[in-house]
Amino acid sequence: MERKYNPIEVEKKWQKIWDDTEAFKAEDSSDKPKFYPLIEFPYPSGAGLHVGHPRPYTALDIVARKRRLEGYNVLYTMGWDAFGLPTENYAIKNKIHPRAVTEKNIAVFKEQLRSLGLSFDWSREIDTTSPEYYRWTQWIFIQLFNHGLAYKKEMTINWCLGCKVGLANEEVVQGCCERCGAEVVQRPKLQWMLKITEYAEKLLNGLDEVDFIDRVKTQQRNWIGRSEGAEIDFEVYGEDGAALVDSTVQADGSANGQNYKLRIFTSRPDTIYGTTYMVVSPEHPMIQVFKDKVKNYDEVMQYAEEAAKKSDFERSELVKEKTGVKIEGIYAKNPISGAEMPIFVSDYVLMTYGTGAIMSVPAHDERDFEFAKKFGIDIVRVIKNSTPDGEFDDGSEGVLINSPLIDGLSPEEAKTKVIDILEEQSIGRRKINYKLRDWVFSRQRYWGEPMPVVYCEKDGWCAISESELPLLLPDVENYEPTDNGESPLAKMEDWIQTTCPTCGGPARRETDTMPQWAGSSWYYLRYADPKNPNELASREKLDYWLPVDWYNGGMEHTTLHLLYSRFWHRFLYDIGVVGTPEPYLRRTSHGLILGPDGGKMSKSRGNVINPDQYTGTIGADALRVFEMFIGDFEKPNPWSEDGVKGSKRFLDKVWQLMDMVVEGEGYGELETIVHQTIKKVSYDYENLKFNTAIAQMMTLLNEIRAKGKLTNDLLKDYLILLNPVAPHITEEMFELMGYGSLREHAWPRYEEEKTIESSFMLALSINGKFKLAVEMQDGVSKEDCIARAKEEKRIADALEGKDIVKIIYVEKKMLNFVVK
Ligand SMILES: [Zn+2]
Ligand SMILES: [Zn+2]
Repeated sequence: MERKYNPIEVEKKWQKIWDDTEAFKAEDSSDKPKFYPLIEFPYPSGAGLHVGHPRPYTALDIVARKRRLEGYNVLYTMGWDAFGLPTENYAIKNKIHPRAVTEKNIAVFKEQLRSLGLSFDWSREIDTTSPEYYRWTQWIFIQLFNHGLAYKKEMTINWCLGCKVGLANEEVVQGCCERCGAEVVQRPKLQWMLKITEYAEKLLNGLDEVDFIDRVKTQQRNWIGRSEGAEIDFEVYGEDGAALVDSTVQADGSANGQNYKLRIFTSRPDTIYGTTYMVVSPEHPMIQVFKDKVKNYDEVMQYAEEAAKKSDFERSELVKEKTGVKIEGIYAKNPISGAEMPIFVSDYVLMTYGTGAIMSVPAHDERDFEFAKKFGIDIVRVIKNSTPDGEFDDGSEGVLINSPLIDGLSPEEAKTKVIDILEEQSIGRRKINYKLRDWVFSRQRYWGEPMPVVYCEKDGWCAISESELPLLLPDVENYEPTDNGESPLAKMEDWIQTTCPTCGGPARRETDTMPQWAGSSWYYLRYADPKNPNELASREKLDYWLPVDWYNGGMEHTTLHLLYSRFWHRFLYDIGVVGTPEPYLRRTSHGLILGPDGGKMSKSRGNVINPDQYTGTIGADALRVFEMFIGDFEKPNPWSEDGVKGSKRFLDKVWQLMDMVVEGEGYGELETIVHQTIKKVSYDYENLKFNTAIAQMMTLLNEIRAKGKLTNDLLKDYLILLNPVAPHITEEMFELMGYGSLREHAWPRYEEEKTIESSFMLALSINGKFKLAVEMQDGVSKEDCIARAKEEKRIADALEGKDIVKIIYVEKKMLNFVVK
């Protein structure tokens, strides 16, 4: 029979059937085991999808489809992370409401995703910009606020001197504004902050409970950056040698009156005798306290002004040239050794990390070492090990020297002893420090969730009543940020003026909006119960679906989105909203798909490939096969036109299998390789080895074609194995062959003993004379044995120039060529 494979027709047909029958609808309660795979929902940009998007979507679609065939109740769905800057900027430029832009972009994305045949339960689609959704984002913020985890603090923002607006980090390119090219400086602004630091220890310990790939765990651990050490107070002296007194005014109006203490944090208190200078950040308050004593105050302030132009990231880069200014007129004293030391100001010390001051141990800290060499400061080794004197080493091994109270101890022992001494003398204390900073949670922009808080002169910041949620984002005339850096909402007096929920007096609404990370911090909870008007999701449904069994996403989200959502989840667990401490059981990550030129796909490089050009021609199945076959899922791989065509040829050959079906049961002569294929494909799909799973199915296909025939049992199971990758063609073939509905069949099982190849030694001879023996697999044909024998040099040489009169073959034993 001649049936032509028309992928476009086949795919349209099955996509309609899946829609009409709600084939992938998840049940909220079921006797089946549940499986909840999750992919990072996209930001619907105006550019639509490129071929990189479907890679992770297809990967988890494969697992979702396989699990359904294995009898699981699967929740696999999609939504839109739609608040954010590109939409807002597009709206400003084209004078269209961001809502309209968002709706248009979502429609394009949705159409593209549908054409890829992804098995989403579309009835659970969510959109973070819809009031029904952001109502609960605002509700979570109120809970955080009520639990003391949201506060306002002066932070620096990126300020464009040209546009006179605050910029998001992604709008700053090499210190300049991405839009106008003008210089960007750091400017202080009151910002809402979330106390993620309060969860540092929980976020760290939680990593031990989950199955995340190692590089994700390592990045999160480093980002949280826990270090154990000590806080130490150094006294500061004036030129006359007298300890300087802290004149800071206290809460009760009196001056402090105590000796000033320059407080530092160090993870290496054992090296305290090696401290030869101190460094404070340019913003350190001590500089103002001793303004009158500092002889080069102007020079110091000029340096501080330069530093203010740099971002924290630029300032703390390891490779950059060290700069600084020595503060003249004051000095510090080592509280243990009594040694006098100069104090420097340098931008590599950040006010936002630790205490904004450090004790510098140039012999055993690389950054301090470089700084000391540049400024000609003493370098004193206090740990002796195999490194020759005069060279840098980190001093993590060896024994203490030049340190009277701790000489001869190991660094670990010395650490403990120094902390004991510090605590006894009340000049320091044991302390755990984290690199993690609180999360800046406000933006002076329009297209985001309004913050559900008001300011009252009497009561300060108050959360609005939950019954007023959602607090709708009002329409404004113009979405441009204002000249003074406030959000466009700041111009809406009518909206701003409200009443205080605490005292009933006049109050003003917050005009900042939430950052893009808000809506994505809890979306996987809403998928469990997307239409619930009374709660963010019912506890019953959350208990059924959570935690997410497998979350795949980009490595670039490891320290932002992934950490933020773990924080919110842990908080919601603490207040009893969810029943699991961690949101995600497993986390994996995919490599990028690069342009055909091997570079990252981008509009400016002109190497972006749109999936529509394939779904409309050779079909979604061929595209899906190639996306998964392109290479190691965890590594970046360049796009290849030939590769896509090769995938289409593979499916053409699969289609031809329908013409090779013969009577018979089981897998016939191919039993071993079929069992091997079932085993390998089942394992590989669950372990990110999609490319080798497909390669195995290609090998089996070639074996079947070499035989020229296969049984119905084999074709059925072959189609089921391939179905998760190429769902349309396999369902169509299943139906054409009269096998019924593929989705109602079970995932094939293999028997371990049948995967093991058995072989025998075949004796090769010429005219009855034994030449050599070769190993052959069971089930091999006489023709294969002859071909194999002729590949052997000794046989080939003996046959050279002779006529083969006869070939005698004794199965599994010997092959004899009779020649003359
Ligand atoms: Zn600008
Ligand atoms: Zn009030």
